[in-house]
Amino acid sequence: MGGRMAGAPGDKAWVASGNVAPLLVVDDVTLQYKTAEHLVTATWKVGFEVYAGERYVLLGPSGCGKTTLLKAIAGFMAPVAGSITLAGQSIARPGPDRMMVFQEFDQLLPWKTVLGNVMFPLLVNRRMPRKQAEDHARSLLAKVNLTRFEHVHPHMLSGGMKQRVAIARALAMEPAVLLMDEPFAALDALTRRKMQEELVALWEEVRFTVIFVTHSIEEALLIGSRILVLSPHPGRVKAELNAGHLGPADVGTPAFDKLQKHIHNLLFTDKIESDRPEAAHG
Ligand code: ADP
Ligand code: MG
Repeated sequence: MGGRMAGAPGDKAWVASGNVAPLLVVDDVTLQYKTAEHLVTATWKVGFEVYAGERYVLLGPSGCGKTTLLKAIAGFMAPVAGSITLAGQSIARPGPDRMMVFQEFDQLLPWKTVLGNVMFPLLVNRRMPRKQAEDHARSLLAKVNLTRFEHVHPHMLSGGMKQRVAIARALAMEPAVLLMDEPFAALDALTRRKMQEELVALWEEVRFTVIFVTHSIEEALLIGSRILVLSPHPGRVKAELNAGHLGPADVGTPAFDKLQKHIHNLLFTDKIESDRPEAAHG
């Protein structure tokens, strides 16, 4: 491949070039925080592979290192052991090929309109001329049903609408992989369900690659084509499951309940206890 494909999503380029290899490879990754007094092991030898076009979910209890894993994939921190590669390239720094959507509603620029927010990274990264960026941003805003709000500032929007802007802004950059860190966790239950449905519908239309972090089993099943189940702190891989056959319409069906129960049991029966990684690292 080599170099950035202007205007073309990295994952599609990766597929178009005939690749059947995984787009993202996380290999035996251990992540730690070193503070003045402590060495905190956030994840311990975590490995998984994400293929282009997947909706890959990282599921685990609070504190198991999900956000830390996303930070490492985004290039904000380096593994102390193991490696992460995207399209065959080792991840060394943050880049616009990995756009992130956060839980917080304040991730938008308050002084810019909705349209301005979506255009902003396109202009900063010199992805395309202003007029083209405007058209491109508008097409994304149409996909998340915000056309009528393009001239509004963020403080006028509901939480769900703000998250839709953040998603449009990230997708406008056509990242190789979209990283979403519990993006719907702060929404009320009804809005949250609507956003989950919309995200899957948007994926059906655009077919981006997404790594989606959640601590909700139900959300993992709704969103994910595959689910990586992580143990409590420090995060280790418990299981990887297929959920591509389940979607928002399947909530409450026997197949959905069965997998939900299975994951629940995986999460609440902790069988890994022998090797304490902190002890191993002194
Ligand atoms: P999750 O997103 O799954 O809730 P995190 O990745 O945020 O988990 O955190 C994993 C572990 O790393 C937790 O024990 C947390 O306390 C610790 N941790 C997170 N950020 C820092 C930091 N900046 N400094 C020290 N420890 C941290
Ligand atoms: Mg987190």
